[in-house]
Amino acid sequence: MIPSQVNFHKPNSLSEALDLLSGNQDAKLLAGGHSLIPLMKLRLNEPDSVISIGNLAELRGISDSDGSFKIGAGTTHSEIAMHQGLRQVLPVITQAAASIGDIQVRNFGTIGGSIAHADPAADWPGALLASGATLDLASQSGQRKVAASDFFQGFFSTALNGDEIITAIIIPKPPAGTRSGYLKFAQPASRFAIVGCAALVSGDPIAEIAVAFNGVSDTPFRDAGVEGALKGKTLSEEVIAKAASMAADGRDILSDHHASSAYRHHLARIYAKRTLNSLM
Ligand SMILES: Cc1cc2nc3c(=O)[nH]c(=O)nc-3n(C[C@H](O)[C@H](O)[C@H](O)COP(=O)(O)OP(=O)(O)OC[C@H]3O[C@@H](n4cnc5c(N)ncnc54)[C@H](O)[C@@H]3O)c2cc1C
Repeated sequence: MIPSQVNFHKPNSLSEALDLLSGNQDAKLLAGGHSLIPLMKLRLNEPDSVISIGNLAELRGISDSDGSFKIGAGTTHSEIAMHQGLRQVLPVITQAAASIGDIQVRNFGTIGGSIAHADPAADWPGALLASGATLDLASQSGQRKVAASDFFQGFFSTALNGDEIITAIIIPKPPAGTRSGYLKFAQPASRFAIVGCAALVSGDPIAEIAVAFNGVSDTPFRDAGVEGALKGKTLSEEVIAKAASMAADGRDILSDHHASSAYRHHLARIYAKRTLNSLM
C-alpha cells in the first residue's frame, strides 16, 4: 500500500528537530524508517508530518569514556555490531545488534528507533536491561535520564513523552572479567525474537549477575528468580540447568500465532540455559 500524504521535514540540527516536534506532537520522528514506514504503508499510522532525524550528526556514533560507552540514538545496528571496543567489553551488545533482521535492516535501523518503537519481539531491550543502560532524552524544555528498566512500560509502550527525542544510550562498563552474551530463538522470516535472553556474569563465585528476556512477555524483564539461583555459585552445567528451569516463572507470557505461551516458557528455559552455558 501507499502511505497517506505527509508533510516532510528535514531539520539540520537536534534543536531544530526539537522545535518542530514541540510545535506538533502528532508528528512522527523518522530514523531508519524500518518500523515506521511499514506502519505508514499499512496506514496503521497516519501522521500529518514526519521529521527526519536520520542524518543528524549529533545523534550518530559511539564514544568510549572511562566508565561507560555512549551510543548515539541514530547509530545503526550494523555500526554497533562492528564496534571493536563494545565487542571486547560488552559482547552482549554487539551480539544483540548482529542478531537483528538481515543486513539491510541492520544498515538502516537505529538503536533509538528500535527502543522508541518498543516491539516486545525486538532484541535491544533484553541486552540494555541486562547491561544496566540509561537513556538520554531531550525536549525543548530540557534533558532527562531514564533507566532502561523504567523506560519499557508495556506492549509498544514506553516512558517517552510526545515532545521528546532519545539522544543517546549510556552503558556502564562492567567490572573487568565480566562475561556477557545474547542468544535468541528467531522468527525464521523476520528474525525478530520469539524469545531472546541476555546475560552478564562476573566473579567466581558469581558476584554480579544479570539475566534479562525480551520476546517472552509484553514488557522485557530481568529475571530475579534465575539471578537469585546463580548469585554466589560457581557456574557449572548443573547450577545453570537448575537456575534456568525457573526462567520466566510467574510471568504473564505472550501467546500468538508464532508460539503459544507454554512453548515460549519452554524456550525461555532453553535460552537461559544456552546463554549462561556460553559464558562458562
Ligand atoms: C524485515 C524486518 C526485520 C526486522 N527484524 C528485526 C529483528 O530481528 N530484531 C529487532 O529488534 N528488530 C527488527 N526489525 C526492526 C528494526 O530493527 C527497526 O529498524 C527498528 O525497530 C526501528 O528503528 P528505525 O531506526 O528503523 O526507526 P523508525 O522506523 O524510523 O522509527 C520507529 C519509531 O521510533 C520513533 N523514533 C525513531 N528514532 C527516535 C528517537 N531518536 N527518539 C524518539 N523516537 C524515535 C519513530 O517516531 C517511530 O515511532 C526488523 C524490521 C524489518 C523491516
